[in-house]
Amino acid sequence: MLVMRILVVEDDDRVARGLVTALRTASFDVQRVATAERALNAPPADLVLLDLGLPDADGIDLLRKLRKRPQTAIIAVTARSEERDRVRGLRSGADDYVVKPFGVAELLARIDAVLRRTRAARAQPEEAEPPIRIGELMLCPSTRRTRLGGDLVSLTRKEFDLLALLAQHSPSVVERGRLLDQVWGEAWEASSRTLDTHVASLRAKVGEAVHIRTVRGVGYVLDRA
Ligand code: CA
Repeated sequence: MLVMRILVVEDDDRVARGLVTALRTASFDVQRVATAERALNAPPADLVLLDLGLPDADGIDLLRKLRKRPQTAIIAVTARSEERDRVRGLRSGADDYVVKPFGVAELLARIDAVLRRTRAARAQPEEAEPPIRIGELMLCPSTRRTRLGGDLVSLTRKEFDLLALLAQHSPSVVERGRLLDQVWGEAWEASSRTLDTHVASLRAKVGEAVHIRTVRGVGYVLDRA
């Protein structure tokens, strides 16, 4: 398992000791620094727990500088409980905010939530679905673009969803009920004529590259033309 690195920026030794112990117990790789200068020179971390009240710099300035590192999440920590400071911290780019004194359980829950969000945001480009190719047709799920022999084809939202679903399962038949469910959702109550209308429209638009074959009483299947 990947160990998450947390940088604790805290000038109060007693507070810092408690934090470092709690975070190490929770299996984080923890480094602690007591000044803004050391915080800026510390090795990269996945998350910075940043005390905004530091002796050598304005905490918000430091927050803005650390924010320029896109890989690092920041939780601002402050003794000041006024809403104005919280808003300032969040506007300056903190992912979350805790006010001293706070419990370890609350802090760990916030750290988990922030790391989950940042990991999900980072993972998106890599985990984007790859394009689907069938003959001359190429569907790109992440950009929702459709190309036919290199030229863009203009599809409506539902047409794209329908074509993508058929393409993903080609050369298997996709049942009508499943197409209606997945493209229009369970709330869809209209007749399945809408499905046939969309298939007809797709045939007109991409019919030279792919053949959307009717399997009577079952559904549709996408074949190369
Ligand atoms: Ca402090």
